[in-house]
Amino acid sequence: MTTQALRSTEIDFAETLPELGLVPALPPETRVGYQGQAGSFGYRAAARFGRPVSFPTFEKLLRALLSDEVDAVVLPAVNRVAGPIMEPLDALVRALSQEAGAVPALTVTAELRVPVRLVLAAPPGTALSDVREVFSQPPALRQCRQLLERLDANAIETHDTAFAAFRVAELGGARAAVCSEDAALAAGLALLDEDVSDIRPNFTRFWRIARRPSGPGEVDLTAEGMDLVPIAKPRVAFFTGPKAMAALDGAGAEILSLQGVPEVPVRGFGIVPERALLSLAGLAMRNGDRFVWLGPSPEFPTPPRMSALPRATEVRESTVVRVGTFVVGGGHRAVIAGPCAVESPDQVERLARAVARAGATALRGGVFKPRTSPYAFQGHGLEALSWMRAAGDAVGLPIVTEVMAPAQVGPVAEKAQVLQIGARNCQNYDLLKEAGASGRPVLLKRGFGTTVEEWLSGAEYLLNAGCRDVMLCERGIRTFEKATRGTLDLGGLLAARSLTHLPLLADPSHAAGRRDLVAGLARAAWGAGVDGLIVEVHDAPESALSDGPQALLPEDLEILLDGLGLLPGRSGSIERVRRAIDAVDHEIADAVTRRLELCRRVAEVKRRNGLPIRDEGREATVRARFAEALGAETEGERLAEALIALGLAAEGYEANAAG
Ligand code: PEP
Ligand code: MN
Repeated sequence: MTTQALRSTEIDFAETLPELGLVPALPPETRVGYQGQAGSFGYRAAARFGRPVSFPTFEKLLRALLSDEVDAVVLPAVNRVAGPIMEPLDALVRALSQEAGAVPALTVTAELRVPVRLVLAAPPGTALSDVREVFSQPPALRQCRQLLERLDANAIETHDTAFAAFRVAELGGARAAVCSEDAALAAGLALLDEDVSDIRPNFTRFWRIARRPSGPGEVDLTAEGMDLVPIAKPRVAFFTGPKAMAALDGAGAEILSLQGVPEVPVRGFGIVPERALLSLAGLAMRNGDRFVWLGPSPEFPTPPRMSALPRATEVRESTVVRVGTFVVGGGHRAVIAGPCAVESPDQVERLARAVARAGATALRGGVFKPRTSPYAFQGHGLEALSWMRAAGDAVGLPIVTEVMAPAQVGPVAEKAQVLQIGARNCQNYDLLKEAGASGRPVLLKRGFGTTVEEWLSGAEYLLNAGCRDVMLCERGIRTFEKATRGTLDLGGLLAARSLTHLPLLADPSHAAGRRDLVAGLARAAWGAGVDGLIVEVHDAPESALSDGPQALLPEDLEILLDGLGLLPGRSGSIERVRRAIDAVDHEIADAVTRRLELCRRVAEVKRRNGLPIRDEGREATVRARFAEALGAETEGERLAEALIALGLAAEGYEANAAG
């Protein structure tokens, strides 16, 4: 498993989590001001928060906010390519300096990324080589310097990007506009070039700014309940003076420097990460250096997102649980595998070897089994725990086993490295308190009839009892559906992901109840970004003492884990490693086939638009990509050269070389 491979498929919650807060969804009648006109990027940002209201300048926009004409405004603060955007930030500083008190009347309440896909558009019939003037808003022009250089055209500044499109349509001639595709089409222009920003994908971070509530105290960042939208809530401070800037910089803040003025040569904004707030608390500035917090000051900590669950939903970096080779959470992904029940010393020893060889990082197995019928096999108890621990130790895997009663916790915690609380006990609070105080990490299954909030409340009991290493596992909830044993609630899992820092796992075996569906559900959960899986495995499922119908065979587990991109265990088996290599080769072959098909398609478009097949700038981008992933002047370069050559052949470059 590589982090790169993982990044491309999953939503990288781990990275954004510390910045995320939940804010109440605003009523649609909220009036949100923006600078520009309909179709502009500001319009799009405003529409995310309410009903957009247009203003011609940033000054008028902020004045409208201060005079209650709108409920909030959006301001473009930072662009990925061009960095801090001076015009709106300067306007914000002027609005702040007009205020008398030490606490500003304006607060930055949220940050929103708006994708910026700029196109170059001109009246139909205009060729790229004809363009002599390019119209756009100054910040947009700064985002596509390379294009302007290539065209050797004059940049003409306009109020906003949408206006540029209409102006170019009106004037005609050898002119083009840099604007959104929507604006270009609305103005009746044709696209000459797409996504023309110097760095792609380009986006602008807009700040939502509101008036500070007039009552005493701070901005209310508390949010309770689940009817909430996750959104980044930055801590923004305006600063002046080099000492203030150094303090912010030293604390890890992102600095947005503004052009100095004679009286204040050093000034700007700092966006302070949550973890750095403490180091800035109590900081007093002198000699003209100052901080003005545009939002709560560091002394005002961000409260947990659900105050009833202060530990489970605390805004903090992802919890990583580590038990030997088993590491889960914060980008580490793990697989727990083994039999439903420990049946005999032999059985658990064989299966421990099998799951270790497949690539599992922990061994599961029940010694106390919660069975629907009191006549069904109830587990071999503590004796089986010794067999299981020996089997785990022999292959270097920690063991995970269920406790069903408070009295079992002590003796089980002596041997098992991880305790499991089963679905039936998700809300057994006495058991949770006992397990939480055991000193062992605890895996908490979601009950089949518990909501996400109730499940997190179960985790809260564990955390409150002193356990820091809590893992959550979705294992199928009860629905009307009878085709499967449970319904794997991926929506609930993702909702939990935006609420909690704890590792989240999925158990496709108990959700499906049937072997044929386990791999598909496992892949679905993995694709949704779970931190781990727990899978039941048996080598003689027909004679298993429990849950045989849902057990994967060891070889099925190997295929599944190879497909998920995990590495096989260090079993010393050449054949096992070769099969994993075969799986990688199949993936590479599929990826190359797809890449070559895309090359043929791009060649079609190039021919249609009269563009040359070979584009050396693009080849440099491809080389840089592989050099970054695999190292320059080594494998990365050789792989890139091979792919570029194959691509050119697929595009028919040789046949076209003369043209
Ligand atoms: C188990 O994992 O063996 C088990 C009984 O699971 P659940 O509690 O999810 O039914
Ligand atoms: Mn089971």
